[in-house]
Amino acid sequence: MRIKFWGVRGSIPTPGRDTVEFGGNTTCMEILSAGKERIIFDAGTGIRVLGLELMQAEFGQGKGKAHIFFTHSHWDHIQGFPFFAPAYIGRKDMQGNRLTDFCNEFNLYGAADVGDRLESTLRGQMDNYYFPVDLNYLSSSINFRTLKNNQVTIGSITISALKLVHPNGVLGYRIEDGNSSVALATDCEHPSDGTIDQNLLELAQNVDVLIYDGQYTPEEYAPHKFNLPGPGKQGFGHSTAQEGIRAAKAAGAKRLLITHHDPLHNDEFLQNMENEARKLFATTDFAREGMTIEI
Ligand SMILES: [Zn+2]
Ligand SMILES: [Zn+2]
Repeated sequence: MRIKFWGVRGSIPTPGRDTVEFGGNTTCMEILSAGKERIIFDAGTGIRVLGLELMQAEFGQGKGKAHIFFTHSHWDHIQGFPFFAPAYIGRKDMQGNRLTDFCNEFNLYGAADVGDRLESTLRGQMDNYYFPVDLNYLSSSINFRTLKNNQVTIGSITISALKLVHPNGVLGYRIEDGNSSVALATDCEHPSDGTIDQNLLELAQNVDVLIYDGQYTPEEYAPHKFNLPGPGKQGFGHSTAQEGIRAAKAAGAKRLLITHHDPLHNDEFLQNMENEARKLFATTDFAREGMTIEI
């Protein structure tokens, strides 16, 4: 499968000269399976740029199909959806029925217990108070799906989901395609008692790539441990690259990709964080917008 990062920033987009290398768009990742199924994870602002690329091919003619999985519905994971151009492509007949040959198709997945809310959350952010166009205006075929038993098979790909620790909950995903596997664990906080989240270990067991939320430095996360002032970031639902490395080693992950970069961290800062992390686990990279991995 091919993995491409379209947005790796956490919390809020950070355009500007200081974030050119790692990128400023919020969370969006695309997987193309060996069988050419297209799976998208989260609709942060990165999905806008992905949408523009998709429009160049079959999605521009209303002949595209993709599956969009949501980890959770915080702003930085849904805000790009109203700007996802392929969602607007579709034609209807005189009776208002969609013409399937000219209609992009999207299946949107959420957790069993938050999936019911996915539609109302996406509809809510397109309420007239916030956005000029209603969700019903999108001409493509949009189907809201709930993950049954937290697992779904799409062509050659199997996707499993487990809950991780984050305010209001988040889903971590394990994606398997033949002998290739990847785990996505963005927006997750490590346990405070020094253990490693069992669900994370299960998702990441022997994966080729673990993608992990390393938003903070250890000093930012828990300044008191370094005799530094400040309240720290504990309880905000995010983690550190160092905790990601502990999890990657314990789970036997071959490679670690750190994502959900903090808006306060510019390219130079992130490069330093990456250098530090590699000293502990050589196969660590900090994800960059546009980065592509084949596994
Ligand atoms: Zn987030
Ligand atoms: Zn979040």
